[in-house]
Amino acid sequence: MGAPTIDELREQVRAPVITAGDPGYDEARAVHNGMFDKHPAVVVRAEQVADVIAAVNYARDASVDLSVRGGGHSAPGFGTNDDGMVIDLSLLRHVHVDPQARTARAGGGATWGDFNYATHAYGLATTGGIVSTTGIGGLTLGGGIGYLCRGYGLSIDNLVSAEVVTADGQVLTASADEHPDLFWALRGGGGNFGVVTSFEYRLHPINDVYVGLFFYELEHAEALFRFYREFINDADEAYGAFPAFQIAPPLPFIPEDRHGDTFCVAVVHWAGPLDQGENAMKPFRDLAPRVAEMVGPMPYPALNSAFDPIFPKGIRSYWKGNFVTELTDAAIDQHLIHGPKVPEVSATMHLYPINGACHRVDADDTAFAYRDANFATVIVAAWQDPAVDRQRIQWVRDYYDATAPYSEPGGYVNFMADDDQNRVEDNYRGKFTRLQEIKRTYDPENLFHLNQNIPPT
Ligand SMILES: Cc1cc2nc3c(=O)[nH]c(=O)nc-3n(C[C@H](O)[C@H](O)[C@H](O)COP(=O)(O)OP(=O)(O)OC[C@H]3O[C@@H](n4cnc5c(N)ncnc54)[C@H](O)[C@@H]3O)c2cc1C
Repeated sequence: MGAPTIDELREQVRAPVITAGDPGYDEARAVHNGMFDKHPAVVVRAEQVADVIAAVNYARDASVDLSVRGGGHSAPGFGTNDDGMVIDLSLLRHVHVDPQARTARAGGGATWGDFNYATHAYGLATTGGIVSTTGIGGLTLGGGIGYLCRGYGLSIDNLVSAEVVTADGQVLTASADEHPDLFWALRGGGGNFGVVTSFEYRLHPINDVYVGLFFYELEHAEALFRFYREFINDADEAYGAFPAFQIAPPLPFIPEDRHGDTFCVAVVHWAGPLDQGENAMKPFRDLAPRVAEMVGPMPYPALNSAFDPIFPKGIRSYWKGNFVTELTDAAIDQHLIHGPKVPEVSATMHLYPINGACHRVDADDTAFAYRDANFATVIVAAWQDPAVDRQRIQWVRDYYDATAPYSEPGGYVNFMADDDQNRVEDNYRGKFTRLQEIKRTYDPENLFHLNQNIPPT
């Protein structure tokens, strides 16, 4: 039998099957990162698990490259390709909440915005990312670092089960009781093991949170970093907080004559009792004078979407990241050199805390390899003008190179650039061999290779 044709695929799939020349092709092939302008042969916009099964079978039997796209945020643009197939899950976004069990089941293409909208109606939430347009799919499979992780763990620590279409077109449930090896690998191993058509998460009573956004003059950056590393070490787990470097956007709470200036910033939130929120902000007010601040209660989904406008779809971007166990004085010195050179409003360095509840999960329980790290650094530049590609990428690389000697060899897989594939073994350190074994079981031919790839051999 010969390789299947796209006409045969169209006969098997009820969902939209889009090829070059079809209406909507340009929209269907686009991903968030505007650096990746690729032309897949076919995009299947899956609406049901049956569509995913048919598409996986087609890609395998036709031997074409396969991209699996959830929210489309992959920094290396893994959600699209040239001449292959894309399974676009963005129509699989339904979220069903069980308020009694405090769980939610969400389609594999839902974004955190979809998820929060559904769960907030019940006063519930779980750990998602920093912006709401990111897909639950890619973010969860890599680990899931976000505002709530000190209190409630990484996104994977809240994953109860996943429904997965594997490379042979089977539908499996992965959980602590069913296919536990696959469940282990999905929790940190990225998109290597199949297409997750739905994720089931544990939820927590989170409704409104108290938020503080503090802008300090750059001369206070050293004080901010030194204060932060001590403070976050044993701060109440209701706190999420991270320092950043940021060019002031034209927001009303920032004095107009300071728009466009560079600051060091503390992004703080308190997910404890709201009447303690004002007091919770005090340490960040006491540490240095603020040029601008925005402080007050807000619904958790509003916090989760506060930075969305800075990262619109199509913006060009380049990322690098590291795990950090100890934030040394020498590391801070490098932040003080490179952070203030942040080149765009949409460029930044965030130093996320991953202690608290993240540390209470046993290191062997999931494929996430750096349970003992205290921070995850992300250095990201995003910009509109292709003429500055080289300069923007260079700022990220210089900053990364300068801080790498004070960081762990590996970084968070979701913060890797397209030139980071050689870091995969470091990113998974002691877990890599087991991940390879599980890859051999579920995807021996490496159908799912457009990701931070764990080759079967
Ligand atoms: C603006 C922005 C903010 C971010 N903030 C955070 C943050 O706060 N915390 C954090 O942890 N990360 C963050 N990230 C990184 C993010 O976690 C990764 O880029 C992640 O891969 C995005 O997932 P996605 O589904 O949107 O992307 P996609 O490009 O759709 O997917 C990325 C990869 O994940 C896999 N994948 C996605 N969905 C599925 C699925 N359902 N089944 C199987 N495989 C799938 C595929 O291998 C795919 O190539 C951010 C990224 C951006 C662009």
